[in-house]
Amino acid sequence: MERFFASRNGNDVFLTPEDEHHLLHVLRAEVGMEVEVVDEGDLFLTKVVSLNPCRLTIVRPLERNGELPAKLVLAFSLLKGGHDELVLMKGTELGASAFVPFISSRCIIRLEEKEKEKRFARYQKIVAGAASQSKRLTVPSLSPILSFAQTLAYPADHHFFAYENLADGTFNLPEAFASVKPGETALCMVGPEGGFSPEEAKEAVNKGWTSVSLGRRILRAETASLYLASVFAFLEERK
Ligand code: SAM
Repeated sequence: MERFFASRNGNDVFLTPEDEHHLLHVLRAEVGMEVEVVDEGDLFLTKVVSLNPCRLTIVRPLERNGELPAKLVLAFSLLKGGHDELVLMKGTELGASAFVPFISSRCIIRLEEKEKEKRFARYQKIVAGAASQSKRLTVPSLSPILSFAQTLAYPADHHFFAYENLADGTFNLPEAFASVKPGETALCMVGPEGGFSPEEAKEAVNKGWTSVSLGRRILRAETASLYLASVFAFLEERK
């Protein structure tokens, strides 16, 4: 069953123009068709009561929670070839509650202001689509594209950064994630194709970030983000 993020007033439901178009012209809705709607984190079963104008009404609230007990925030570096878009789509499916895109010293991509805006708008569409498809109760939030220093200052209960130089070190990820309690926020940062510079790693540790190893192999940046999100979700789902 389709799910839309919408607003409501009493039992009346209001879709965005894009979603209205999708419902009427792509899904070819008929009166009586049922769709799920999320408004401010609450999930409802609704029914199409008229096509022109497009009107839906609430049938009943639904209980289904697609959210993780603790909040995962993925800080990812802008990547070439749309690989950062993969982080957004798959990270949303895996339960991330927010994303922090950033540019650090070894990031290959350099964007003009205009291109940043275009990329950000694309990011928003990807996250909204993935949240709807994966039946999330919330659309993960997206911070503006930050600098490395701004990312280090981003507030969270826990700050972890995946450091490739730890690849042959102690595999400390289980202990790191075990320290995250329900309701807390864990900010996990993954570096760009060129990795973190030693100075950046040192600055992160000085700012109280914990470096974590993702195992003995060097993962591509997008793989590293999705590995972190998968492990986090795996541990959280059982809570
Ligand atoms: N240029 C780096 C090198 O050759 O060592 C590799 C960077 S890797 C492609 C991109 C990011 O993925 C790293 O900055 C790190 O955040 C993460 N990463 C990849 N493999 C990792 C591992 N085994 N342990 C911790 N982090 C890893």
